[in-house]
Amino acid sequence: MKICKKCVMPDTRPRLKFDSNGVCAACEWDNIKKNEIDWNVRQNELKTLCDEIRGVGRYDCIVPASGGKDSTYVADKMKNEFKLNVLTVTITPPLETDLIQQNMATFLSYGFDNIKVTPNPAIAREINKYGFVEQGRPMLSWTSCLNSVMFRLAVDFKIPLVMFGEDGETEYGGSTETRYLPYYDTDYAIKIYTEGNDPRSFVKNHSEREMSMWLFPSKEDIKKAGVRVAHWSYYEKWDPYTHFEFARDHYGMKKHECRNTGTYTDFGQLDTPLYELHTYMMYLKFGFGRGLQDACIDIRAGRLSRKKAVEYVNKYDGEYPKNNISLFCDYYQMTKEEFDSVLDKHANKELFEKKDGIWTPKFRIS
Ligand SMILES: [Zn+2]
Repeated sequence: MKICKKCVMPDTRPRLKFDSNGVCAACEWDNIKKNEIDWNVRQNELKTLCDEIRGVGRYDCIVPASGGKDSTYVADKMKNEFKLNVLTVTITPPLETDLIQQNMATFLSYGFDNIKVTPNPAIAREINKYGFVEQGRPMLSWTSCLNSVMFRLAVDFKIPLVMFGEDGETEYGGSTETRYLPYYDTDYAIKIYTEGNDPRSFVKNHSEREMSMWLFPSKEDIKKAGVRVAHWSYYEKWDPYTHFEFARDHYGMKKHECRNTGTYTDFGQLDTPLYELHTYMMYLKFGFGRGLQDACIDIRAGRLSRKKAVEYVNKYDGEYPKNNISLFCDYYQMTKEEFDSVLDKHANKELFEKKDGIWTPKFRIS
């Protein structure tokens, strides 16, 4: 594996490119963010857009919101700074935690409308299981609906703007095609957020009508409804830790009691324990997990030295989520043997070898 000279991201990350100095595209973008982008220009673009859409319909903007740090921050900005009538929309995650529900209830009590959408849990489980077994993507249903439902509701309710948080590809390394584009379309959403899967291919036994939550509206319908879908990270220099501080100080957001599995941080992705499995599968497939992801963000923000990051990554990254294995087996309705065989199938044999039943790295990040 080639490791970025500035952060610690390996070149096994899908779609990530490196320059001739061994620096990854996410670090290159970080440099552009700090030195080249005129954020005032982008804020003015947003102001113009908000002036255009404010008051035309019942709601001006959907903010996809979970009760997490980033959506809390974005919803606050859209409501209080840009004076839009905001509808927050939540997609119920599989195995939703009490903590995220409490954080969401507290957030809403400060004055937000919310629609909570729960796509058919039986179909959701089927798709999540299909994603886990076939592709090593244990939350495929949820990550797909996080996009498809927002497009769908915006079109059906004629809400002109959907404002997501960060463009993960641009921010954390991947495709660079949306660095300079404020909006994205359903082709991009399918390619990146349903991870290349056309939602129609997920399950064969359900009609299109039953699958409404997973299917995107047509481009023609989106255009007719005048819906635009954007990322907040296009308009402001993105840093998740400052969003956590904001959500904690202004909306009483609570973090996890101890560090999250597989990392040294305790405040992100609190929605579902399946996130542990999601990042563990990422680790088995590509050799980087939740801790390494967090460390790269903190290096770029200047909160962590590369040396300390290497230490944290070698200590925490790829931690086996041992406390929740039986919960995962129950959710996917499979035995421990079947569960293990899915891990075996997706583990990258060039990067890992099995020791005492656990896939162990043959590499060290340095
Ligand atoms: Zn980098």
